[in-house]
Order: sequence, then C-alpha cells, then structure tokens
Amino acid sequence: MPMSTAVETPQESSARTAPVAGRFGAYGGRYVPETLMAALEELEHAYAAAQADPSFHAELADLLHHYAGRPTPLYFARRMSEQLGGARIYLKREDLLHTGAHKINNALGQALLARRMGKQRIIAETGAGQHGVATATVCALFGLDCVIYMGEEDMRRQELNVYRMRLLGAEVRGVGSGSCTLKDAINEAMRDWVTNVRTTHYLLGSVLGAHPYPTMVRDFHRVISIEARAQILEQAGRLPSAVVACVGGGSNAIGAFFEFIPDANVRLIGVEAGGRGNGLGEHAARFYTGKGGGAPGVLQGTFSYVLQDEAGQVSLTHSVSAGLDYASVGPEHAALHDSGRAQYTSATDDEALKATVMLARTEGILPALESAHAVAECIRMAPKMGREDVLLVNLSGRGDKDMGILARELNLKGAAL
Ligand SMILES: *Cc1c(COP(=O)(O)O)cnc(C)c1O
Repeated sequence: MPMSTAVETPQESSARTAPVAGRFGAYGGRYVPETLMAALEELEHAYAAAQADPSFHAELADLLHHYAGRPTPLYFARRMSEQLGGARIYLKREDLLHTGAHKINNALGQALLARRMGKQRIIAETGAGQHGVATATVCALFGLDCVIYMGEEDMRRQELNVYRMRLLGAEVRGVGSGSCTLKDAINEAMRDWVTNVRTTHYLLGSVLGAHPYPTMVRDFHRVISIEARAQILEQAGRLPSAVVACVGGGSNAIGAFFEFIPDANVRLIGVEAGGRGNGLGEHAARFYTGKGGGAPGVLQGTFSYVLQDEAGQVSLTHSVSAGLDYASVGPEHAALHDSGRAQYTSATDDEALKATVMLARTEGILPALESAHAVAECIRMAPKMGREDVLLVNLSGRGDKDMGILARELNLKGAAL
C-alpha cells in the first residue's frame, strides 16, 4: 500500500521517511513512502515558482472571475437575523460559484499548476462526487485527461455525479476493495500516482495529505477571507464577532478563517459533523473531547487528529453530509485547535436538517448539507449575542445535490414540515 491508512506515531513514520517542511506546530509533515517523495518535491518546487510568478496569479484571478464567478457576494440575512434575534448574520455565498461550491477555487489553481508542470493527466479521488465533478470540470476546461477513483458503494449512492463526471469527459474508475468508499478510492489513486508520476498530477480536494498539499490548497481558498474581510468592513462597518464554517477536511473553513487569524477579537469557529451520536463510528467530530473523539495520529500522509480505536485502527465515520464524513482533518486545524485560536464544535444530522429548512424558508437559500452545519451553529449562537454583534457564516455550497437525501430525511412527500 503506497500511503498508509493505518495510524502510526510520527516516530514510526519518520523511520521510513524523514518529515520535512510543511509543519503546523507538531502537525502536518510528509509521511509517505520513498516512491512519492520525488513527486511531492517536484510539486513543492513548481508551486513555489508559480507563487513567485505574477502571470500565474493573473491567469488564476481571471479564471476565478470570468469562469467561476468571483467575487462571491456577502449577503446580509435580514429575515433570519430578525427571527433569531441577537447578532446580525452575513452569509459568504460560495454556493453561487460555478459547480455549486468552493471546491472550484482549488481545482482551478491545481489544474493551472499541472499545466505549468507539463502534466497532461489528472487523477483524483471522490467520495460523494463533488470533488470529482470540480476536477472533471477543470480538466474539460484545460483539455486534460481525467481519471476519477470512486468507491463502488459511493458510485451507487451518488449515481448522478457519476453521470456528471462522465458527461464532462472524465473516466470514473470504480474501486471494489475494502469498504468500497472514499478511503479505498484514495488508496487506489495513490497507487496510480506512484505508477504514473511522470505524466500525472494528483489533484487533492482538501487541506489534507502530505506537504505541500495542506498549504497549497489553503492558499487557493484564501480568496474567500480576502474578499469577506473587505466586504464585511464595507457592509457592516466592523470586523465580525465570529467567523463560522463547516469542517470536513477543512478547506472552506481555513479559506474563510485565514485573513482573520491576526484579528485577535474575531472568534474562529469550525463546525464538525456530530452525526447521530457521540460513539465512535456515529459522527466525524475529530476534535470532540469526550470518549469517541479523535486523537493525534498519521493518516494518508499527514499528522493530525484522527478518529481511531484503542488499537489505532482508523474508525468508520457517519454524517448525513458526505463532504464532512472523513476520519481525519487538515493539520492546520489541529494546530489552531491546540493553540486555542480557533474553536471546534459540532452539529448533529438533525440540527443540520433543521438549519437547512430554516435558511430555505427565511431567505430562500437552500444550503448544502455540509454548509448547513455552520448555519446550525449560527442558529445556536446568534440569540445569545447582541444586535451590535456580527456573525459571518461561510456558505460553502448549495443544496441541489442533496435533494434526494432531503426528500428522504424530511419526508417531503405531501405533508408540510
Ligand atoms: C466538500 C465540501 C465540504 C467539505 O470540505 P472542506 O474541505 O472541509 O471544505 C464542505 N462543503 C461543501 C459544499 C462541500 O462540497
């Protein structure tokens, strides 16, 4: 297996491969087998060169504007704020981007980088299919070959996204090993990368994996808080009391937090998937501090918090929102958690569903179930705050993709809710 799925101590991992740059406190690093080191170093250097090249930034900015639809609006949710009483709530509308979520920010950046590196072939893994669709989209845009690995179980559950990727010209390869879900697809994508590393770029979808991915993917999403910080100052005349975002791997959250990190009076609040209970396997709340929560460990190339059993085996996770359903979390969040600069909480499946209905009915905005976790936290916080307070919620995506789940969970047939 090219990249370990087992949780190891950093000492065990560094015995195989010395960790390098890309640390966030104790977290992050590059815990991969020797065969991938050259590829990661090549990527690191190419990214550094791109960062220093104004033409790279200019082309990315042009695509983000004309193709993806940036800047996204900051919207004052007046009716929801009034109904909750207390803080004024502003929504950063990443849901309005092309393909329906923030993921396109990163997919465009990495596709540009792949082209700079002369790589004609892109691989990616996808769970629910959202990252696969964003990747297939940018590959179509740049004329790149695209292979998406997806667990066979996930392909059954997300049939429409499989069609979307194929329509966009991607090859979707079903993975029939293990649990036939995301982590098996990641292993298969890693195997492909080791074999085809000269021609192929691995387009990772969140702030996860080995260095430089967590830093690079964060940088591609920083645009969220660069825009939001200027927008809130202009519209509310002040910085927010808190920035709230859902945390799967953590890319939309770190993008929304980053420019506010030096603003000590702005609270940063990440919301994980509380699922249907506190027991291991019932949720994806890696930072939950009770029994059933996560602990530091190495998963898929990086050292961070991991949901694992007492023997260190990675545990199963559950969430009504597939995008939050992962056993580990980006290493920068682990560092922000330990330092106390950001706080992490969770919302349950039920709370996310209720938040979806509330936002739909007060504002006419149907959030992705992932984003609804951030809205749920805001519903808890706002009434306890004053009218002078401002909550900035990152609405990472739109809910169209979730209509099947919503119809089933909310029993939308006939009866009013
Ligand atoms: C994928 C996804 C997420 C979770 O990913 P992060 O890396 O944590 O941002 C959140 N919201 C939406 C809409 C998504 O598609």
